[in-house]
Amino acid sequence: MEQSGPNNQPAPSRRAFLGTTAAIGAGAMVSPLATAAPWEKVGPVPPKLIPETMGTPMNFPKEIPLFKQAFRNWSGGIQIDELWTCQPETTDDLVILANWAAEHGYAIRARGYSHNWSPIVVTPDSNLDTNVVLLDMTEHFTSMEMTAVSPAAVTVQAGASMEALLTYLEDEGYGVTSCPAPGDLSVGGVLAIDGHGTGIPADGEQRESGQTYGTISNRVLSMTCICWNHKNDRYELMRFNRQHPDMAAMLVALGRTIVVEVELRVEENHNLRCESWVSLSANELFAAPGSSGSTIESFLESSGRIEAIWYPFTSNPWLKVWTVRSSKPFWAREVDSPYNYPFSDNLSEEVSDLIAQIMDGSPGLTPQFGQLMATVTTWGLLFDNAYDLWGPSKNLLLYVRPTTLRVTANGYAILTRRSDVQRVIHEFVEQYETNLQAYAEAGKYPINGPMEIRVTGLDDPMHTELTDACDATLSAVVPCQDHPEWDCAVWLDLLTVPGTPWSGDFYAELEAWMFENYSGDYATMRVEWSKGWGYTSDGPWTSDDIIQNFVPQSLSSGRPAKANWASATNQLKDLDPHDIFRNPFLEKLMP
Ligand SMILES: Cc1cc2nc3c(=O)[nH]c(=O)nc-3n(C[C@H](O)[C@H](O)[C@H](O)COP(=O)(O)OP(=O)(O)OC[C@H]3O[C@@H](n4cnc5c(N)ncnc54)[C@H](O)[C@@H]3O)c2cc1C
Repeated sequence: MEQSGPNNQPAPSRRAFLGTTAAIGAGAMVSPLATAAPWEKVGPVPPKLIPETMGTPMNFPKEIPLFKQAFRNWSGGIQIDELWTCQPETTDDLVILANWAAEHGYAIRARGYSHNWSPIVVTPDSNLDTNVVLLDMTEHFTSMEMTAVSPAAVTVQAGASMEALLTYLEDEGYGVTSCPAPGDLSVGGVLAIDGHGTGIPADGEQRESGQTYGTISNRVLSMTCICWNHKNDRYELMRFNRQHPDMAAMLVALGRTIVVEVELRVEENHNLRCESWVSLSANELFAAPGSSGSTIESFLESSGRIEAIWYPFTSNPWLKVWTVRSSKPFWAREVDSPYNYPFSDNLSEEVSDLIAQIMDGSPGLTPQFGQLMATVTTWGLLFDNAYDLWGPSKNLLLYVRPTTLRVTANGYAILTRRSDVQRVIHEFVEQYETNLQAYAEAGKYPINGPMEIRVTGLDDPMHTELTDACDATLSAVVPCQDHPEWDCAVWLDLLTVPGTPWSGDFYAELEAWMFENYSGDYATMRVEWSKGWGYTSDGPWTSDDIIQNFVPQSLSSGRPAKANWASATNQLKDLDPHDIFRNPFLEKLMP
């Protein structure tokens, strides 16, 4: 494996390299949230005590402590100085809160780690007067236990972090095929948006018991939520199994319910090897379908599990390739914990300075920034001895820390047949490069972060190993009945620092092209709930046409009437007739 960079830059000494990264890692103090720039570190928001004179929401249940807390999502795209927040301790608290909200015209919004980009927790204009109370689930709803073996299942409360869950599973001898890259996401937050990782079966690989190549939502066997009980005329704790008709909408519900606990199908744990490549050019990896050489298709054949990260204006992406390997390959480094790419989690001064200059009116430095990030990656992999890693799956599947550069991202899943995956990627890359070049020639640099490409299977309910398991109707990768040959999803993201000039226009143009291009018998496109979509010049989630037409259509076309967009939104409405689990954005999306 090549150990030198794509950019022919002289190797920095190990001390110099560590000097810049560690200077930030050790020295940067937690900064006040409201003023943090994307390259500064942020920490948790301390709750504020409520002055006695301050009026709390009317008749708020006395037994549940309420406080004011700033809300800030991970990218800083949503920043609210004060919101009413509580940390319910028991399921009784949740039921009391729901019925209080229904009676007093309040919304209650469950939250996990607030890492979501899209405004599906709260909208940016929320404040103390907007009749909303946040429920922080991460404090008291964190327990888990194995509840079945062969096939295996774990029951976990929704506030538990993905890292805690995967650590517990590892101790018990279990794991998952793929999952989102950060560990500090709550199980409830991940299920709300059909959280995914990367992976399809390699050539000749047979699915094992407990495995799914789809999203985490496709692992759900049963779910306990707070819902309206029409018989008793009140919100209650209700448990649905995967065969229940109402379950279809709850599996991916964008926070239109409160998930308390879920039972998830899991699999025997495997050891994984993760190799990194920086020596292959984008031209080769993303070549036209049918090309020979090291294409994405060739890596999918051999390993099934890839992620490409490609900085703008650079020649070689960072390609990660995971393979299932029971014993340690001779050259690989064994890892006994996750997050093994510290260079991408701790930004050097050089990187921070350059981004600051770009955002400060020197967009022309963007190509230089791309080159710098590619160089940091190349030498970081070398100095962190991270080119070839091996260990229990969790240590290879979790690799993003919240301290990474805080960027915003668009996100889409393109459903297609496996033989067309290379075509999907090639066409996207070509269009992106054409648009990026045209913008650059006009002196505009809307994208300064990388392109990210991952490939998964679809949410096949058969993977639960239950008879009559329902589809996850609102999952981006719910199968299309009229195209059973579509068995893969290519997940495409483009990252940029929030507020980068012209990014709204760039994203909007690309999105329009994508909806048109990925259509017909070849492919279809769905949005990735957690990320940016519905673009106009004003930014994400501003296009009424996408929000009210394209998105509903994308989850209706090819879907049976009993499990499509309309049926799911009706089910959610039926389970929440008092609209206590809504916000203005969700009202627009799901009127
Ligand atoms: C750096 C970074 C990397 C990421 N990488 C990936 C990735 O690799 N793959 C991927 O799929 N996603 C990824 N994401 C997106 C992430 O998975 C989602 O944003 C996820 O929803 C965040 O979880 P959270 O606990 O922070 O949820 P929050 O942001 O707190 O909430 C998100 C949604 O979940 C709802 N919710 C939370 N808890 C509950 C509950 N108990 N019951 C009902 N609804 C609930 C909220 O109401 C809201 O609608 C990434 C995000 C970041 C910032």
